[in-house]
Amino acid sequence: QVVNYAPFTLLPSAVPRALFEQAYAVQQDFNLLVDAISQNKEFLEQTLASTIKVDDFTAQLFRIYMQILEEGLAQTVFLGINRSDYMFDCGLDGTAALRQIEINTIAASFGGLTSRTADVHGLVLKVLGKTEEASHLLPNNPAKGLALGIAKAWELYGSQRAVVMFLVEEIQRNIFDQRCVENELWNRNIRVVRKRFRDVFEQGSLDASRRLFVDGQEVAVVYYREGYVPQNYDQQNWEARLLLERSRAVKCPDIATQLAGTKKVQQELSRPGTLEKLLPGCPEAVARIRATFAGLYSLDEGEEGDRIAATAIADPDRFVLKPQREGGGNNLYGEELRQVLEKIKDSPERTSYILMDKIKPQPSLNYLLRAHSPLQVSECISELGIFGVYVRQGQELVLNQAAGHLLRTKAIEHADGGVAAGVAVLDTPYLV
Ligand code: ADP
Ligand code: MG
Repeated sequence: QVVNYAPFTLLPSAVPRALFEQAYAVQQDFNLLVDAISQNKEFLEQTLASTIKVDDFTAQLFRIYMQILEEGLAQTVFLGINRSDYMFDCGLDGTAALRQIEINTIAASFGGLTSRTADVHGLVLKVLGKTEEASHLLPNNPAKGLALGIAKAWELYGSQRAVVMFLVEEIQRNIFDQRCVENELWNRNIRVVRKRFRDVFEQGSLDASRRLFVDGQEVAVVYYREGYVPQNYDQQNWEARLLLERSRAVKCPDIATQLAGTKKVQQELSRPGTLEKLLPGCPEAVARIRATFAGLYSLDEGEEGDRIAATAIADPDRFVLKPQREGGGNNLYGEELRQVLEKIKDSPERTSYILMDKIKPQPSLNYLLRAHSPLQVSECISELGIFGVYVRQGQELVLNQAAGHLLRTKAIEHADGGVAAGVAVLDTPYLV
């Protein structure tokens, strides 16, 4: 019942131009890669085999995935909206390197709100008399880029009457972020409805050719802004998810693409030879992708896992321990990492986690503005996200683009957590 402004930094943060450009330049490659993984049953099966034995949520997604494949896909148009997140790792010699934190393949958010942040920071700089600096801020409109992808998928689905359905949470704190994308679609004369899993369960059905109807309206595109964490599901919601996945509607993402975004898949991608297998004949794309990887390690049972677990217990500050979860606040660091790993190191449970090298960016000073929080200068680090959009019809990729960026900044005392978790705030890159 309370409306607050979205939190933001007072000032834009410095971002090395070369790394910013590198992140944009690799986005189409990441789009290709995610799309390739989503079509590679053998890879998904092998990669997730150990994880689904111990992680119920991934297992349930995987069961739906297999069920859909057995029945045969009704969907022929595929829409991916992802966001690849990076931090700038500071080397011993003081140079910064672009390191991917993760790629989000479902419900990647803040493309809407951040379409406004460059204007906010431009205004602040002008008020401070920095008109010249204000003119250097880059225009950025992910809302438009994401809507372009959704509109293309809607068009290829091929029914003027059909709507785009935003699948949203019961209580949606981030509604204005979604409205920015929604309004771009209305501007293109595309009808948008907002529904919850519960609505789909109660009012959803498929016809004989598996066209999806919800409350009497045919749905061309399902855009998930929910369904990425276990708490989003009860038995009915799982049934609704299955209904959506079985349908002909374009799911953004389909369940295979959601699985392609798991931490376990990310870790397997870093194994020598894996990228080459997934993107045959694309050595340049493979090199660009690999150049962004931090060290990632499997905790699967066996000698390799035993060794890295022991290394991390001995030197926990070098690593981050990650479960198969999204949305921030799930990772383990430092002493807590050591304790948890010590406890599970001899049990199969450890395979539900991966280990990653900890990225150590150079902090800078800024003010974080958040409703009801005192204003104080903080030492901060930033995370850059690049939005990617692609559309595939059958085997033909008809759209593949970077759609804009997101800079999120947080105080260094928080190891983890995004904007939604109340830790990071919206920022604008100032290229240096
Ligand atoms: P989630 O899916 O929960 O967003 P992430 O992998 O993005 O998981 O991690 C959440 C946050 O934890 C990131 O936004 C970042 O602040 C921090 N983090 C994740 N991985 C690393 C890393 N390797 N080094 C340093 N910080 C990290
Ligand atoms: Mg993240």
